[in-house]
Amino acid sequence: MQTVAPAVARARELFDSGATRPLAWRLEQLGSLRRMVAERRTEFADALASDLGKHATESLLTEIGFVTAEAAHLEKNLEAWLRPRPVAVPLAVQPAKAWTELTPLGVVLVIGPWNYPLQLLLAPLAGALAAGNTVVLKPSEHAPATSAALARWIPEYLPGAAEVVQGGIPETTALLAMRFDHIFFTGGEAAAKVVLRAAAEHLTPVTLELGGKSPAYVDSTTDLAKAAKRLAWGRFMNAGQTCVAPDYILATEDVLVPLERELVTAIGALFGTDSSRSESYGRIVNDRHFARIAALADGSTVVHGGERDAASRHFAPTLLRPAPGDTVMGEEIFGPLLPLVPVAGRDEAIRMINDGAKPLALYVFSNDADTRRAFAERTSSGALCFDVPAAHLMVPGLPFGGVGGSGMGAYHGEHSLRTFSHERSTLAKTFRPDTLELIYPPYTKTKHRIISALAGMGTGLRRRLRRR
Ligand code: NAD
Repeated sequence: MQTVAPAVARARELFDSGATRPLAWRLEQLGSLRRMVAERRTEFADALASDLGKHATESLLTEIGFVTAEAAHLEKNLEAWLRPRPVAVPLAVQPAKAWTELTPLGVVLVIGPWNYPLQLLLAPLAGALAAGNTVVLKPSEHAPATSAALARWIPEYLPGAAEVVQGGIPETTALLAMRFDHIFFTGGEAAAKVVLRAAAEHLTPVTLELGGKSPAYVDSTTDLAKAAKRLAWGRFMNAGQTCVAPDYILATEDVLVPLERELVTAIGALFGTDSSRSESYGRIVNDRHFARIAALADGSTVVHGGERDAASRHFAPTLLRPAPGDTVMGEEIFGPLLPLVPVAGRDEAIRMINDGAKPLALYVFSNDADTRRAFAERTSSGALCFDVPAAHLMVPGLPFGGVGGSGMGAYHGEHSLRTFSHERSTLAKTFRPDTLELIYPPYTKTKHRIISALAGMGTGLRRRLRRR
């Protein structure tokens, strides 16, 4: 097992030296991060192909290019976002100046999952560095090639600014026993609870980026062919191993029948009639997940797909018609299965969604303004997207995160900067004139009158004082 303490100590030492605070240092790190993913894009793409069978174009879109865009967005806006924000000073405290300033937290621990093993470590890293922190990165042991590539290149491009600790539960447990100033965790519910309990020992603030079941509601007012293509893209990208993938579809039966046909067409258009031959289609990460997905499919009714090969961990894009009580509707699928679930209408769909944990994302495919409003007003989810799944991640101004069971806190762009900073209140008061003399004891009637007036309670109190 890799000893974790020296990495954390080095990160602490650099932070304590004060070197990470200047804007110039932060911009330099963001530039180095961008340079690393640009210059080593082939190595990273190869690692992602080895871990998840990702096509180089998909890796460019969803991992490498994503990180570049995030770092560039932070670089472009950082100076403006770091500017102190003046705050109005009430009369009672004047003359004085008040402002808030974003200050670094210290040493940040970023724990990543295996499904987007590059993006989900490096996008938080960009935010943490922009905020002037040092970072300890813990990649997922289930994406070993990407983990090794990060351990190879991070020390070269970001020496000192970021440390990589490779490993699984023992290493993460050792890390979690140490004190950090923020923990940023992306992963599942079970590990999130472990992280939260460990963080409580040090009262460390935590961001949890979790998953769950993200529903999609489709009605007859939408363009079903286009909706099907977008849904198939969102669900089957990375072989369904995407936290914001539409997990299941809710629609009335008269919509589900043509939608199922359109989904079959869309799957064919995206991955051909035999997805095992498509280079654009990923693989299941490991045997354990392959067996889990197979059991979910076999425990339900397959209406399209279902083909699989345990040796290559290929699992075809699969449409299901689940019966009530099928396990597939009781847990996050996180694989290439898409259940089509009939509902009586929009109200039943909303009821079903509200009966479950709050989703990370909710997708509504409808041209009807009332329907869109009904979902907006009567549901809660990390994000709400109309007519497109997953693309909200590509809008750097939108905070990305869950609510309730799908997570706490958010990041991307300015929200990352804020997540990894402390917004410190600052007040600077002059000695002359020393208006505080007014509030010091001994308290006199004159002082009481003035303070009453300042507190907006002038007349009533004055009358009561007069009566005495
Ligand atoms: P996971 O929770 O198993 O692992 C995540 C990280 O936690 C890994 O680095 C792992 O080493 C560590 N870990 C696991 N168990 C631990 C334990 N007992 N003690 C200490 N550390 C532990 O998650 P995963 O399987 O890698 O990812 C899948 C989950 O992540 C899904 O639920 C998915 O929805 C979620 N996810 C969420 C987002 C998001 O941005 N919200 C993105 C991707 C994945």
